[in-house]
Amino acid sequence: MASIAFIGLGNMGVPMAANLVKAGHTVTGFDLVPAALEAAKARGIAVADSAKAAVAGAEVVVTMLPSGKHVVGATTGADGLFAAAKPGTLFIDSSTIDVASARAFHEAAKAAGHESVDAPVSGGVGGAEGATLTFMVGGTDGAFAHARPYLEAMGKKIVHCGGAGAGQAAKICNNMILGISMIAVSEAFVLGEKLGLSHEALYEVASTSSGQCWSLNTYCPVPGPVPTSPANRGYQPGFAAALMLKDLRLSQEAAGTAGAATALGAAATALYTAFAEAGNEGKDFSGIVEWIRERDDT
Ligand code: NAD
Repeated sequence: MASIAFIGLGNMGVPMAANLVKAGHTVTGFDLVPAALEAAKARGIAVADSAKAAVAGAEVVVTMLPSGKHVVGATTGADGLFAAAKPGTLFIDSSTIDVASARAFHEAAKAAGHESVDAPVSGGVGGAEGATLTFMVGGTDGAFAHARPYLEAMGKKIVHCGGAGAGQAAKICNNMILGISMIAVSEAFVLGEKLGLSHEALYEVASTSSGQCWSLNTYCPVPGPVPTSPANRGYQPGFAAALMLKDLRLSQEAAGTAGAATALGAAATALYTAFAEAGNEGKDFSGIVEWIRERDDT
């Protein structure tokens, strides 16, 4: 069993760290927010006075932070965690961040003599609680093999996507599909309503025909056809629109850098920006169907 430091004890970090404790590891966490430290303590996670104190003596360091600037800021530089950790530490960054920052994280880890993987997740807070997350992993074969048992304690499906940054690339490509497909499904339901088609009839046809997709079959944005979807509980998240927008923006940043044409990704980003700015950032992202319904393009 390993000594693990866990940096970033937010909505995802606390349950993920708790699953490492359950697997028998010694976990010491740190967060800048005192309430997060209290939440961690209540789940059996030891807490340190600083991130540096948490990584002292750790064999593995997991970061679960808001964005690329937080990850690069916390780990690199003379005052960062790479400098503070003992040589040969394995760094696992599970935050969702831009590909360029992920590559900078790997380069700095290597320069400091550490192993590293980018390992963003899908599955949300429910997946973090139930240890059923999917991890999309970028890094060398050796670092992946080393990280795998720790990821297995927190997730169900672990995919090695390629070298440095490949995990983040897979995550933002997947979520670009998700954002676009949710808008497509929502537009189809609103058009169906205006054509006098019932939700049930459209669902029965499309969910078993060529229109089927996760946004329709599992996460249907109108109440009724899929009783477990957020549409049946007032669009409480689930997956908040603010997080969808974050991932869509990352996709557009990456598309710009890589020179990829993503016209629908750009349109989805613009629509989720307008939806969020209308005060909906805390709603589930499938709530965009209501906003689409309210827009009258006659
Ligand atoms: P969160 O805001 O709840 O938690 C992030 C935590 O990091 C906060 O508690 C914050 O205080 C802490 N933090 C920031 N800078 C720090 C530093 N320098 N040192 C220590 N702690 C610091 O966010 P979350 O929902 O837990 O998400 C974490 C990451 O996972 C994000 O990158 C997010 O995009 C990604 N993600 C979230 C979900 C989800 O459903 N919430 C799903 C998939 C991926």
